[in-house]
Amino acid sequence: MKAAAFDYVKPKALPEALSLLAEAGEDARLIAGGQTLLATLNMRLSEPSILIDITDIAELKGITLNGDQLRIGALVTHTEIEDSDLIAKHAPLLKAAAPHIAHRAIRNLGTWGGSLAYGDPAAEWPACSLTLNASMIIHGPAGERRISAHEFFIDLYTTSLEPDEILVATEIPIASSNQVFYFHELARRHGDYAVAGLAAVANKQGNTLTDCAFTFFSVAATPVMATQAQELVNGQSVTPELIAKAVAATRAEIESIADITNSAEAKQHLIGVLLERGLKHLIA
Ligand SMILES: Cc1cc2nc3c(=O)[nH]c(=O)nc-3n(C[C@H](O)[C@H](O)[C@H](O)COP(=O)(O)OP(=O)(O)OC[C@H]3O[C@@H](n4cnc5c(N)ncnc54)[C@H](O)[C@@H]3O)c2cc1C
Repeated sequence: MKAAAFDYVKPKALPEALSLLAEAGEDARLIAGGQTLLATLNMRLSEPSILIDITDIAELKGITLNGDQLRIGALVTHTEIEDSDLIAKHAPLLKAAAPHIAHRAIRNLGTWGGSLAYGDPAAEWPACSLTLNASMIIHGPAGERRISAHEFFIDLYTTSLEPDEILVATEIPIASSNQVFYFHELARRHGDYAVAGLAAVANKQGNTLTDCAFTFFSVAATPVMATQAQELVNGQSVTPELIAKAVAATRAEIESIADITNSAEAKQHLIGVLLERGLKHLIA
């Protein structure tokens, strides 16, 4: 199928994009990398009257270090994250996750902000942003607002972004020197969306983990944190008994939902498999 007819505009600055968005209301769609939106247009799952191409807006670009925060512009592509020295040094979880997103051709165009704004529960960036306690920087008619990743993902493909708002950037606290991380996803083929995945960080001293953040993705309507396991593990020496307790607590806490090809039971099982592997990796 082909997309229905639409108008197309390419503003050069953020205020211009915001006024265009305010004028057109719910009939408008922003387009960044187009790696999700173009497919939905072609399948006529979405029929906007106007596309606002934001790819010329300088304020949405670039990765910068501001004190102890890493700022990732909404237009930063998956490839830029994969190849960035700043990311490798200060947010290594993201470098580890990037190669799992589709294939390089898609990563060259798809953007950090597009992935977060779309809110796909199977996507890597929403889970990583939760794990890394990211703050979303959003501009709208009332100016700038900031919201934690913990409040941003509301439901399946639903975020706290209003139709007249643009996600401008994200700020992430930089990794401490004793931070360890684990990123793994179980997928049928490399580049496929995960059947289940885990993005985890913690601070490590010997066999003890603190400041644990464990986020599962592709198991529920949004990425979901294993809060019980985090509490159990925090500040404790990680033993096989503790790992078994954490696995049981996580399977009890998180209620997986099926997707088109995988049952909820399979995902529930994989949650435990990933957590066990993750904890062993974090203390290794
Ligand atoms: C074959 C294929 C495989 C894929 N596999 C994966 C995968 O394994 N993992 C994964 O995470 N993704 C995957 N993707 C999706 C890809 O990562 C997309 O790049 C990403 O989901 C959306 O980014 P985009 O820049 O292309 O956004 P677009 O397609 O341009 O936009 C997506 C949505 O976000 C909105 N939007 C975009 N930018 C902003 C902004 N700054 N502020 C507010 N709203 C905004 C748009 O209006 C639209 O509704 C795959 C895509 C394809 C085609």
